[in-house]
Amino acid sequence: MLTREEIICQLTSSQPFDLIVIGGGVTGAGIALDAAARGLRTALLEKGDYASGTSSKSTKLIHGGLRYLKQLEFGLVREVGQERAIVHRLAPHLVKPEKMLLPLVKNGAYGYWATSFGLWVYDWLAGVKDDDRRQMLSKTTTCNLEPLFAPDVVIGGGYYAEYRTDDARLTVELVKTAASYGAICLNYARVTGLLYGEERKIKGVKFQDEWDVSAPERAVEGQVVVSAAGPWVDELRSLDQSLTGKRLFLSKGVHLVVDHGRFPIRQAVYFDAPDGRMIFAIPRGRATYFGTTDTPYSEPPETVHVNRADADYLLGAVNAVFPGISLNIEDVESSWAGLRPLIYEPEKSASEMSRRDELFESHSGLISIAGGKLTGYRRMAERVVNRVAVRLGRRMLRSQTRRIPLCGGIFTNARAVADYEIELSGRLAMLGIPTCRAAYLVCNYGRQAEMVLSYFEEQPECEAERELILAEVRFAIRHEQACHPLDWIERRSGRLYFDLPATRPYMGAIIDAFSAHYHWSDKKRETVRLETEKTIFDASHFV
Ligand code: FAD
Repeated sequence: MLTREEIICQLTSSQPFDLIVIGGGVTGAGIALDAAARGLRTALLEKGDYASGTSSKSTKLIHGGLRYLKQLEFGLVREVGQERAIVHRLAPHLVKPEKMLLPLVKNGAYGYWATSFGLWVYDWLAGVKDDDRRQMLSKTTTCNLEPLFAPDVVIGGGYYAEYRTDDARLTVELVKTAASYGAICLNYARVTGLLYGEERKIKGVKFQDEWDVSAPERAVEGQVVVSAAGPWVDELRSLDQSLTGKRLFLSKGVHLVVDHGRFPIRQAVYFDAPDGRMIFAIPRGRATYFGTTDTPYSEPPETVHVNRADADYLLGAVNAVFPGISLNIEDVESSWAGLRPLIYEPEKSASEMSRRDELFESHSGLISIAGGKLTGYRRMAERVVNRVAVRLGRRMLRSQTRRIPLCGGIFTNARAVADYEIELSGRLAMLGIPTCRAAYLVCNYGRQAEMVLSYFEEQPECEAERELILAEVRFAIRHEQACHPLDWIERRSGRLYFDLPATRPYMGAIIDAFSAHYHWSDKKRETVRLETEKTIFDASHFV
């Protein structure tokens, strides 16, 4: 992978790009891959780390969105439902099938027949086949599958197919795959202004290197500029002086994480909260996470955080449906809050507003994309690049991304992923690494686990767990543009959310590895350490 300096040099000293993408969330990363794979000279600029916006704060499901059926969003459910199997094929280690259990309860909003029909329609729209089609379950089977349900309340269940993923890793792998097709991608590069040519038509952007704030703003020229800035789309439209007509509406969604031992569900469930909203609870390794909320948000997007009221709401919802576990605030190990960038629809509540994506094109030519789902990133990208092709006035290849495996995703099918995991666990045992890490490594890195292990340095006097962490950090720095310990702890490994207790003892070593690579002064190292500690503290403390 190119160094940061080499990337900056390529951005600023070459011919104008065909396309500049603003925003390195899943939408921007998907667009960069689609465009680069169709032969466009593509640049992508992200103001923070890749996926540092909404794309690391989702429910981490590749799903059709069962609840959108209620809103009669058949087109959306069909499109994202069908995408699930495609994205699974492109990265079978990272997008894995997950059966979802929907309990039916006495006096619940939906009875047996309505649920059965709804799930049938859901499968039909998505083209779900054979064994994966929904099953309706008896009370006994439902309670056997999930013994934590209160047997005097549950009367049966629906059982249907979804997929789970890690949103941030999906985004990072998309960026890396785009780079492998020639896209020039840079994180910590904030777009601060737009460049205009004749008749005030956009011809590029200015950006500030957020890792070297003393550096001057730099210009990148491009024939077309696409803003995929998620919750910041309207900010960019303001910068372009084109914020007219439809606007964004930001809706906050929160998730909490507890030790799996405190909420030992056996499998993913999707249940009604007492107020009628639907909540997911999903086991993941040594943790269980649950969410989400859906509340209007009007503060600056970067200040979004989980507050005590959000946490109390989710804890109350879980305790109402799983009365045996009595979760309380001290059980929460970690949490996250994200913003859905929805298109505002008057007279609708946050949860009623459509999740469809929409394209805006300003007089200056700025194309903005907003709304949509993680699951639909590929189709959104295809639509955007089709529009870019029209603007460029070029005949281009059709979208190729249906057939491009993501980095690390070279597996013939899910069986091959499982075989690789077994093979890897044997090798981990020989290195003294707990074999349970095989699942984690394969899920996070796929075949790139080989590269991670090539950075593993056996040190007789050091714990293998520490050395594995350092190998991952080296890989993240050298191949994934990780610039800050949080880039790895939060977004490359997901450990901030799902494995903090096992990571905490090595925090000093992790920060040292970054400090040594980037030659930080003691002062800089201390600043980074404080930032890291603050983020970890904030993830489990609420006011
Ligand atoms: P973002 O990820 O926010 O990316 C925009 C990027 O633009 C940011 O990284 C930001 O830093 C960057 N940026 C902004 N301004 C600038 C600038 N000036 N210069 C450079 N860069 C800039 N979808 C699903 O399919 N499945 C789910 O389970 C799911 N669950 C969800 C749960 C919640 C609580 C939420 C909030 C959303 C969920 N979604 C889900 C929706 C999904 O997460 C979003 O649709 C998707 O992540 C949006 O991605 P994005 O790239 O458009 O935005």
